[in-house]
Amino acid sequence: MSTLEKNFWLTTVQAPEVPVRPLPDRVDVAVIGAGFTGLSAARTLAKGGARVAVLEAENLGWGASCRNGGMVLSGLKLGIPALLKRYGHQAAKRMYAASLESIDCVEEIVREQGIACDFARCGHLEVACKPKHFEEFRSGAETIEQEFGRRLKIVEKKDLRSEIGSAIYHGGIVDEASAGVNPARYVAGLGCAAAKAGAEIHEKTRVTGLERAASGGESGWKVTTSRGAVPAKDVLVATSGYTSGVTPSLQKKIIPIGSFIIVTDVLRRELARELSPRGRMIYDSKNYLYYYRLTPDRRMLFGGRAAFFPENENTVRESARILREGMIRVYPQLRDVRVGFVWGGTLDFAFDIMPHAGRMDSMYFSVGYAGHGVAMATLLGKKMAEAILSGRDENPFAGIGFPGAPLGLYNGNPWFLPLAGAWYKFLDWVS
Ligand SMILES: Cc1cc2nc3c(=O)[nH]c(=O)nc-3n(C[C@H](O)[C@H](O)[C@H](O)COP(=O)(O)OP(=O)(O)OC[C@H]3O[C@@H](n4cnc5c(N)ncnc54)[C@H](O)[C@@H]3O)c2cc1C
Repeated sequence: MSTLEKNFWLTTVQAPEVPVRPLPDRVDVAVIGAGFTGLSAARTLAKGGARVAVLEAENLGWGASCRNGGMVLSGLKLGIPALLKRYGHQAAKRMYAASLESIDCVEEIVREQGIACDFARCGHLEVACKPKHFEEFRSGAETIEQEFGRRLKIVEKKDLRSEIGSAIYHGGIVDEASAGVNPARYVAGLGCAAAKAGAEIHEKTRVTGLERAASGGESGWKVTTSRGAVPAKDVLVATSGYTSGVTPSLQKKIIPIGSFIIVTDVLRRELARELSPRGRMIYDSKNYLYYYRLTPDRRMLFGGRAAFFPENENTVRESARILREGMIRVYPQLRDVRVGFVWGGTLDFAFDIMPHAGRMDSMYFSVGYAGHGVAMATLLGKKMAEAILSGRDENPFAGIGFPGAPLGLYNGNPWFLPLAGAWYKFLDWVS
């Protein structure tokens, strides 16, 4: 087994059996990518009576959807003050509400389909790395209460022991609405739900070309794949951080950024309780942040942007070392605990750090989750399916403008990632 395959979550799930079958003669919608976005969309489309084929280059859930931390979080990557400043009260309220709706959406699917994926509303805890960050938590909580009518819990440094067994932070903020999930089990269950609703899933079917073409008297697409071509009336691109030159306009708007995770051996019950007494989803207040949680079987899962470049043998090996050091700084109690797993995956960031969904070059798309995609990809996949079925796009981010790189200095090759990494480290030092 190579290092890249050592994803802990994959040891907890049996890969769903996806039958190998010929590609269909024609479909209403070709969905590219079988992660949360594509499978959630396929489920809704098939339930709405559309003939759908999900075309996946690798296996169901192969992308970020089975590699993530399983944090089902409220809010967006962009902070509330920036969201309000940029979009105004009405739009910011709609987007914030969508983040809460996205958690409900995951919960509903899990319940409806009976997916055994350890979904639990355990809440999340953000911890302040500097006193100034804690002051920002306070003012952020006040803004959320004033603008959106929700009260989050502020935890003073002296009370932090009830939330986390680490002495290095300056306080925290808790949102009880957030949840945790086993992402590999969830994406497998979502795939089964899409198939049960009538969607065809085709693994090892890489889309290699897209051309406008009429078929049966209707305008649409010729979708060329590694296994042949499929005519489709509509196309939904759900390729996230793995977006390629097949959709060049979209590729130029998405920065693929690596994120990496280590997982320890199973911890003693008392130690696990000391580290995370309430079993929260935890992340810190840095730009170059750490995120961590206990797994359902009591291991510490510890992740971060240890390298900015996407996963390969070098970035994964380097990340194992960096993350272990980071974990021990947070939790010296784990000094003698073995790390058994390390893996990486690719996040998709837009230049404005916002999710984007809509139409581009006559294709539907939903991307840009910036590390908040477990819930939001599920919701936006559903919303884009509803847009295709009804012809009305009511996704909460419709029409916000999708900026590309400044001066157009990006063709899909992220040459600036080392600079961005250094810049974020600098910001963490000074702010
Ligand atoms: C290490 C890590 C930790 C994360 N932690 C969290 C977390 O705790 N909470 C959270 O909310 N989010 C987290 N995220 C982000 C979250 O996982 C993603 O936002 C989400 O999974 C995106 O889902 P998706 O379906 O859009 O894309 P993906 O799951 O990435 O799926 C895209 C799929 O498209 C396929 N594809 C690409 N090109 C083609 C082609 N030409 N033809 C056919 N198929 C193609 C790929 O093979 C891939 O399977 C994390 C991500 C990573 C990498």
